[in-house]
Amino acid sequence: MRFSSKEEMLLYSEAKKREFISFGRDIGKWVSAGIPVVSEEVFNSRIAICKDCEFWNKDGFAKTGSCTKCGCSTQAKLRMATAKCPIDKWTEAKNNS
Ligand code: SF4
Repeated sequence: MRFSSKEEMLLYSEAKKREFISFGRDIGKWVSAGIPVVSEEVFNSRIAICKDCEFWNKDGFAKTGSCTKCGCSTQAKLRMATAKCPIDKWTEAKNNS
Protein backbone atom coordinates (compact mmCIF):
# COMPACT_ATOMS: atom_id res chain seq x y z
CA MET A 1 0.00 0.00 0.00
CA ARG A 2 1.28 3.47 -0.90
CA PHE A 3 0.64 6.61 1.12
CA SER A 4 0.84 10.18 -0.11
CA SER A 5 1.85 11.55 3.29
CA LYS A 6 3.01 10.54 6.72
CA GLU A 7 -0.34 11.69 8.17
CA GLU A 8 -2.21 9.42 5.78
CA MET A 9 -0.01 6.50 6.84
CA LEU A 10 -0.60 7.26 10.54
CA LEU A 11 -4.37 7.50 10.05
CA TYR A 12 -4.34 4.18 8.23
CA SER A 13 -2.26 2.49 10.94
CA GLU A 14 -4.54 3.87 13.69
CA ALA A 15 -7.60 2.53 11.87
CA LYS A 16 -5.94 -0.89 11.49
CA LYS A 17 -5.00 -0.89 15.18
CA ARG A 18 -8.63 -0.25 16.14
CA GLU A 19 -9.74 -3.07 13.83
CA PHE A 20 -7.30 -5.52 15.43
CA ILE A 21 -8.39 -4.52 18.93
CA SER A 22 -12.05 -4.89 17.99
CA PHE A 23 -11.53 -8.29 16.37
CA GLY A 24 -9.38 -9.44 19.30
CA ARG A 25 -12.22 -8.52 21.65
CA ASP A 26 -14.71 -10.47 19.50
CA ILE A 27 -12.41 -13.53 19.43
CA GLY A 28 -11.88 -13.40 23.21
CA LYS A 29 -15.62 -13.28 23.86
CA TRP A 30 -16.23 -16.12 21.40
CA VAL A 31 -13.53 -18.36 22.91
CA SER A 32 -14.79 -17.65 26.45
CA ALA A 33 -18.27 -18.72 25.37
CA GLY A 34 -16.94 -22.09 24.10
CA ILE A 35 -16.53 -21.25 20.38
CA PRO A 36 -20.23 -21.41 19.42
CA VAL A 37 -21.02 -21.15 15.72
CA VAL A 38 -24.33 -20.24 14.11
CA SER A 39 -26.54 -22.45 11.99
CA GLU A 40 -26.37 -22.16 8.21
CA GLU A 41 -29.74 -20.39 8.32
CA VAL A 42 -28.42 -17.68 10.67
CA PHE A 43 -25.24 -17.31 8.62
CA ASN A 44 -27.25 -16.86 5.41
CA SER A 45 -29.50 -14.31 7.08
CA ARG A 46 -26.53 -12.34 8.41
CA ILE A 47 -24.62 -12.33 5.13
CA ALA A 48 -27.70 -11.20 3.21
CA ILE A 49 -27.87 -8.17 5.52
CA CYS A 50 -24.16 -7.45 5.06
CA LYS A 51 -24.35 -7.70 1.28
CA ASP A 52 -27.04 -5.04 1.36
CA CYS A 53 -25.07 -2.77 3.70
CA GLU A 54 -23.22 0.41 2.74
CA PHE A 55 -20.18 -0.82 4.73
CA TRP A 56 -19.88 -4.17 2.89
CA ASN A 57 -16.72 -4.62 0.81
CA LYS A 58 -17.26 -7.58 -1.49
CA ASP A 59 -13.57 -7.56 -2.49
CA GLY A 60 -12.23 -7.67 1.07
CA PHE A 61 -10.26 -10.64 2.44
CA ALA A 62 -9.44 -12.25 -0.90
CA LYS A 63 -12.94 -11.55 -2.22
CA THR A 64 -14.69 -13.40 0.62
CA GLY A 65 -16.01 -10.07 1.89
CA SER A 66 -15.31 -7.74 4.77
CA CYS A 67 -16.93 -5.04 6.84
CA THR A 68 -15.38 -1.61 6.41
CA LYS A 69 -16.99 -0.44 9.65
CA CYS A 70 -15.20 -2.89 11.95
CA GLY A 71 -12.64 -4.31 9.50
CA CYS A 72 -13.57 -7.92 10.15
CA SER A 73 -13.66 -10.76 7.71
CA THR A 74 -17.36 -11.32 7.41
CA GLN A 75 -16.87 -15.02 6.60
CA ALA A 76 -15.31 -15.52 10.04
CA LYS A 77 -17.32 -13.07 12.10
CA LEU A 78 -20.71 -14.03 10.68
CA ARG A 79 -20.18 -17.62 11.87
CA MET A 80 -19.39 -16.60 15.44
CA ALA A 81 -22.57 -16.84 17.54
CA THR A 82 -21.30 -14.24 20.02
CA ALA A 83 -20.51 -11.64 17.32
CA LYS A 84 -22.74 -8.75 16.42
CA CYS A 85 -22.82 -6.05 13.79
CA PRO A 86 -21.06 -2.85 14.94
CA ILE A 87 -24.14 -0.81 13.99
CA ASP A 88 -26.71 -3.36 15.19
CA LYS A 89 -28.01 -4.52 11.82
CA TRP A 90 -27.78 -8.08 13.19
CA THR A 91 -27.22 -9.30 16.72
CA GLU A 92 -25.69 -12.10 18.74
CA ALA A 93 -27.30 -15.47 18.10
CA LYS A 94 -29.02 -16.95 21.14
CA ASN A 95 -28.77 -20.75 21.27
CA ASN A 96 -26.98 -20.56 17.89
CA SER A 97 -30.24 -19.69 16.11
S1 SF4 B 1 -21.27 -6.24 9.98
FE1 SF4 B 1 -22.88 -4.65 10.00
S2 SF4 B 1 -21.84 -2.77 9.35
FE2 SF4 B 1 -20.55 -4.47 8.76
S3 SF4 B 1 -21.13 -4.95 6.63
FE3 SF4 B 1 -22.33 -6.28 7.98
S4 SF4 B 1 -24.24 -5.18 8.32
FE4 SF4 B 1 -22.75 -3.69 7.56
